[in-house]
This record gives sequence, C-alpha cells and structure tokens, in this order.
Amino acid sequence: MDAPIFDPAAFRLTPQEAALTARAREFGATVLAPRAARWDREASFPTENYRDMHRNGLLGICIPREEGGEGADFRAYCLTAAELGRYCGATALTWNMHVCSTLWTGALTEDLEMEPAVRAEHRRRRQGHYQRILRDGAVYSQPFSEGGAAAAGGAAFGTTARRAPGGYVINGRKIFASLAGHADYYGILCTELTEGEEKLSRRNTLYLAVPRDASGVTVEGEWDPLGMRGTVSRNLVFKDVFVEEEAALMPPGLYFQAATRWPHMFMTLSPTYMGIAQAAYDFTIAYLRGEWPGMPPVKRRMYPTKQIAVAEMRVMLEQTKALWFQAVAEAGPDPGKEGVLRAWAAQHTVMENAAALAAKAIRTCGGQAMLKSLPLERLYRDARCGSLMLPWTAELCIDRIGRDALYEKGETD
Ligand SMILES: Cc1cc2nc3c(=O)[nH]c(=O)nc-3n(C[C@H](O)[C@H](O)[C@H](O)COP(=O)(O)OP(=O)(O)OC[C@H]3O[C@@H](n4cnc5c(N)ncnc54)[C@H](O)[C@@H]3O)c2cc1C
Repeated sequence: MDAPIFDPAAFRLTPQEAALTARAREFGATVLAPRAARWDREASFPTENYRDMHRNGLLGICIPREEGGEGADFRAYCLTAAELGRYCGATALTWNMHVCSTLWTGALTEDLEMEPAVRAEHRRRRQGHYQRILRDGAVYSQPFSEGGAAAAGGAAFGTTARRAPGGYVINGRKIFASLAGHADYYGILCTELTEGEEKLSRRNTLYLAVPRDASGVTVEGEWDPLGMRGTVSRNLVFKDVFVEEEAALMPPGLYFQAATRWPHMFMTLSPTYMGIAQAAYDFTIAYLRGEWPGMPPVKRRMYPTKQIAVAEMRVMLEQTKALWFQAVAEAGPDPGKEGVLRAWAAQHTVMENAAALAAKAIRTCGGQAMLKSLPLERLYRDARCGSLMLPWTAELCIDRIGRDALYEKGETD
C-alpha cells in the first residue's frame, strides 16, 4: 500500500480524515488504478467505479451525518479526493462535480445567511436530493461553463430559468459538461428571468438539478480530448426544459452569496491534481528503483542526474503540498484578503506543478516510461487540463493575485 499523501500524524489529521483518506487510498489502489487505462483509451465514463463508490459510501461523503452521509467537511473531502486523484484522475474529477452538489448545499450553506423559514425549506428539499444519492446511487454533475465569461465569474449565466406553475422552464447551452449523458441529474447554474428586469444579473443565479431524461435535454458534440478523457465532458442543450421547484439545490440568491462569501468553494477542482502530482512522483521513485510492476527490474537510481531530478521533484511536491494544505485548512466563510490570495496561489501552484511534475517525471524516467502500457503518459495528459478549469484557471489566479496585491478595495489609478 502506498504511504498517505498527508501523513495523519505529521499533518495532524482528525480521526475521520485519517479513516476516509485510508479508505480512499485502498479503494484507489485496488479498484480505480486497474481500470483507469480503459476509460482513458476509450474516452468512456467510469460507470463501474460509481457503482462501487455507491456501495462503499463515497457518493455520500459530504452529506451531513444526521442526513445519512459521512459528514465530511471541506478539508476532509479535499484530502480524500486527493487520494482518489492519485489513482484515476477522471474518476476523481467527476466525483468532485458530484460531491460539490452535496458539499455546497450541505456544510457550506450552514455558514451562509438565510431566513429561518428559507433554511428549513432548503434543508427539507436537499434531503430529497441526498436520499436519491444514498438510496439509489444517483450521480450529480455540475455543468456551469458556457464558453463566455459567466463560469469565470465575470457575467451572469446565459442559460435562463423562467418561473412556470410548479417550477421553472430552462433554456440554454452548457459546454464541457463532465458526466454528460451519464449523471442522473445535471446541477446547472442559470439565471432567473424576473419580471421587469431587462438585464441578466448574477444575483439571480439559480442552482437547479435537471433530470438527465427530462424532455428537451440533449447531449451533443464529439469527445476526443487530450486528457481527462473519462470525464466525457460533452455539451448539453436545454430547450424549454421544465423542472419542478423541488429541483432547486439552493434557494434563490444563495449561490451568489456562496460564491462571494465562501470563495474557497472553487478550490474543489484542485484535489484531483494534488493526487496526480503525488502519483507522478510515486511513479518516478518506483521506476528508478526498478520496482514498477510488470517492468524488468532495471535500476536507474544510481545516476547523479536522476537523483538531482528526483530531489527537485521532491522539493516541488513538498512546496505544493504545504501551500495547498494550508489553503484548504483555512477555508471558511468571509476569509480575509490574505487568505484569498493564498487560496489563488495554492490553486495556481497545484495545477501548474502537477503538469510540471508529470513532465519532469517523463524526462527523468526516460523513453520506455512514456509507453502507453504505463500510467505516466496519462498522468502527463490529465495533469495538463488542471490549469484550464474555470473559474480559477491558472491565468485568472495570476490576474487576480496581481491586481489584489497591488490595489485595496475601491482604489483606482
Ligand atoms: C477535462 C475538463 C472537464 C471539464 N468539466 C467541466 C464541468 O464539469 N463543468 C463545467 O462547468 N466546466 C467544465 N470544464 C470547463 C472549464 O471549467 C472551462 O470552462 C473551459 O476549459 C474553458 O474553455 P474556454 O476555451 O472557453 O476557455 P477560456 O477562453 O480560457 O475561458 C472562457 C472565458 O472565460 C473568460 N476568461 C478566461 N480567461 C480570462 C482572463 N485571463 N481574464 C478575464 N476573463 C477570462 C473569458 O470570458 C473567456 O471567454 C471542463 C474542462 C475540462 C478541460
């Protein structure tokens, strides 16, 4: 069994975190890793993995304990997800979309302001979603991206919802919708069209779970990407799709509050890549020691250049882990400026360093290490996708860090 990415004693993990990460590591090594090449080769969705994750309770990891789940908070989730990302990036990334549908509507909303009656209604409604997950193994996705500035947080979503008797009618289009055709519910962000308001407003963002087989929902487009091929992130089109009020994952206005008051919620894409960074390092050690299963026991560790490269990788990995752990550990409502700058720096670091570590692993291990029969070239391709994920792409993190480090609120030149 691999050593934990974050040793429970060294990083002072809670007993729950230690148990969840150990379970994820065991599951990842024995169930996810042997299947990972197949999803990648076929660009097919890891349905079997989801059945197994339902069986072992991982689909309900962030559902509150009193509602039947494991009750993992933000940090416990991130640490567990990193262990899964180590063994299958596409499964960990899509699982993240699913889990956020419960983390954001669960523990995170407890930190937000709501009228008591609205909160009671939210808790009642989310139970319907949670029961489907726990009882039936229902899988939720998060198609937010539309190809414009909305998923970057710069504009209202162009996908709209208009109130109709008993629910909403949705129209719009989402791109890069991971789990397209495979999730049971698409948790979309859209803008409510309100009477008298001409312009779409981010304040009117709704978060609605659209059943996969609802009338007017279609999946379109090819899916043959560089990496993260098992995510099956095709496009979704919504044409006059009716959903009931019960489809709401959050009350009106709450997503906007969450996005502005709990910004670390956008770090949840990073654990997968923390795991990939660790996996690239692990592979390099095993390979240079001549211990990779199925390969001839040829040692390459005695060459000083390889030792230097491994040392540099280790330094980069430790830097990445330390910053990421700190940012994940301090997540919470209404963080100060320093905390947000650190979160952006951590996101940028993980996404860029995962790709850099995988590239360095290939150069260091050598030609035979990048054959398709080994996982390293998949790690390299999957790692490259991390920096592209909105709203905190590597570019946008740099953009915001530079601006906010130099300007206080309200300052202009
Ligand atoms: C494997 C994979 C899986 C994905 N899964 C999902 C998913 O499940 N759900 C989901 O919602 N999305 C998903 N995405 C999409 C992802 O989050 C991005 O939305 C997508 O990669 C953006 O592609 P683009 O070509 O439109 O990028 P870009 O052109 O980089 O960005 C899109 C828009 O964002 C704004 N923007 C970008 N950079 C800047 C900047 N520096 N300054 C100001 N504005 C900027 C601009 O308006 C730009 O037009 C996935 C992506 C990948 C690669």
